[in-house]
This record gives sequence, C-alpha cells and structure tokens, in this order.
Amino acid sequence: MRIALFGGTFDPPHRGHIAIAKAAADAFALDRVLFAPTALQPLKLETAPLPFATRLALAEAACEEDPRFEVTDIDAPHPDGLPNYTVDTLTELARLYPADTLFNLVGADSFLNLRNWREPDRLLELAEWIVASRPGYALNDGDLAPLRLSKWQRDQVHLLGGVEEDISATVLRARLHQGDPCLDLLPEKVAEYTQRHSLYR
Ligand code: ATP
Repeated sequence: MRIALFGGTFDPPHRGHIAIAKAAADAFALDRVLFAPTALQPLKLETAPLPFATRLALAEAACEEDPRFEVTDIDAPHPDGLPNYTVDTLTELARLYPADTLFNLVGADSFLNLRNWREPDRLLELAEWIVASRPGYALNDGDLAPLRLSKWQRDQVHLLGGVEEDISATVLRARLHQGDPCLDLLPEKVAEYTQRHSLYR
C-alpha cells in the first residue's frame, strides 16, 4: 500500500487540508491518507489549540470527505508532556507498515521550514515527501535552495502544484469566534460539529 502521513494541528481541519490531501491521493495513487492531529506541535508551543480529543473528533469529521482519508491518534499527548516529533511518528509508522511505501504530506510553508524540524535528514530518509503548494509560498526548485538538499534528498521530495486554497486556520478561528459558521471554508461535517459544540466561540 501507499500511505501518507498528514500531520497538523487541525484546529480546525479546513478545505485547504482536504484539497491537498485529495490532490496528493490522486497524483500519487495513495491508498490511505492518515490525518494525524498533533497533541503538542514543537514549533507552535506558544499557542494553545483546542484539546487533542476535540481536534481528533474534528479530523474524524473531515475524513468523511473521502474514503481514502483516515484519522490516527499516533500523535496523542505523551504521558511526560513532551512535544510530538514527526521523526518519531514516521519511525513508528515504518515499524507498523514495513511492507508499505510511506509518504509525508505537508504544505509549502511547513516544508520551507524543514531545517527547524528535529532530524531533517533522517526525516527525508524515512519517507518520500509530498509538498503541496499554498498561496503566499513560492514552491520552485530555487526556493528550496536554503534547505541544502543533496541530490538524493531532492529526489525524495515531490512538489505538488495547482492547489490554490487561500485558507488559514488562524483566520478561520477569528471568523468562527465572531459567529460566522464559515460554511465556505469548512468541510460539511466539520462545520456541523463546530456548530453543535459551539467551538471557537
Ligand atoms: P495556520 O493557517 O493557522 O498556520 P495551518 O492550517 O497551516 O494553520 P496545520 O493544521 O498544522 O496548520 O496544517 C497542517 C498542514 O496542512 C501543514 O503542512 C500546512 O502547511 C498544510 N496546510 C494548511 N493549510 C493549507 C492550505 N491552505 N494550502 C496548502 N497547505 C495547507
């Protein structure tokens, strides 16, 4: 099988996430895209997202959009309160699925920050990377120069252009807070869940 990890805060999951997951699944013939809400994102420690269990439920609602999408709690909170590192998540997935081809799906903004992740070189060994375009972030070979990828590492990275969803969770939360249900930006089941539980109000 061809399996992609799709990690994120998902606070909340929105149409931008769905768009890149669908585009990646189509372009790379993925059997499964694993939406993995991150309990504690090491690069976003200063912000407090909704509780992990709520974001897991929201991701479950989002996954109803496509039969290839599935939620995993592989990045649940650690008992010792430490952050969740993607290098550990991919190592665990490689152990769980030794016969499968693993991908890591990210948006352009996340990938351009790769050198700030823990063990970037190991991360490129553990999976092939699918990097989706995101409005506001250039994604040409020249833009990857600061990442100092070797030839072998560059071959592990697939650029996926054509996704032009100008949506950010930060803007979305502000609109939800003002009482806007954001039906244009949220998958239907996510919008329903958000309204039912009065989230972000
Ligand atoms: P914020 O917009 O507040 O920064 P976010 O939606 O980027 O939040 P995450 O939920 O952590 O934050 O995103 C998960 C992954 O989805 C990341 O790899 C991010 O780059 C990607 N992503 C999020 N929104 C988009 C978008 N509109 N287009 C392409 N990729 C996106």
